Amino acid sequence: MSDATPTCTVPSCQKPGTLRCSGCHPSQQARYCSSTCQAADWKRGHRRTCAGAQKHNCFLIRALPITTTATDPNQPPKDAHYLEPFPLHAYGNWGKERQEIQARLNWAAAPGVATPGWENCTDDTRPVNPIVTRCLGRTVHGDVAVVRSSTIEVNYYGDAFSANEFVRTLAYHRTAPRINGMGDQQRRERERIAAKFGLHESFFPPGFP
Ligand SMILES: [Zn+2]
Ligand SMILES: [Zn+2]
Repeated sequence: MSDATPTCTVPSCQKPGTLRCSGCHPSQQARYCSSTCQAADWKRGHRRTCAGAQKHNCFLIRALPITTTATDPNQPPKDAHYLEPFPLHAYGNWGKERQEIQARLNWAAAPGVATPGWENCTDDTRPVNPIVTRCLGRTVHGDVAVVRSSTIEVNYYGDAFSANEFVRTLAYHRTAPRINGMGDQQRRERERIAAKFGLHESFFPPGFP
């Protein structure tokens, strides 16, 4: 294999494409010489073909990155490398969504809910999921399925969402401050439940929900 850098994806540009589109599937990443060419190509149509921009109603956050082989082994995996589209046929009905997820991922024996809208399997022998552990502020094992039609209210998108949007949400969780030991998502869920019952959030014991 030659190490010559492919040229920029923009047809009229012949410069070396040293930048890669992070949203593309690793086996067919668009290459750019500059962020200017990348922005131009995005407008020109890449936003319709880029895998990271495709909307789905559910994504898996894998415990182990799924695309490490295609990335530089010296670079730590990025959040996008843990995400896998997992479109649900039963989308829109919470009970049926759960059934489908559990059946397709063989979770039927130990179904769990990491946080509302984030389905998981309560099997601690599975590897620790670093992204979910960081987002929720507690250790979660195995893959987690994130469904947007759930009751979760950390939700700035339409029903379907793209990997690129999801990566931005995860980046937000990464930098969100922890208050009283709670992550943003847990805090919001406490507030949501408190509001529902007309209580102050401080009525709930630590660790709830
Ligand atoms: Zn792309
Ligand atoms: Zn270029």
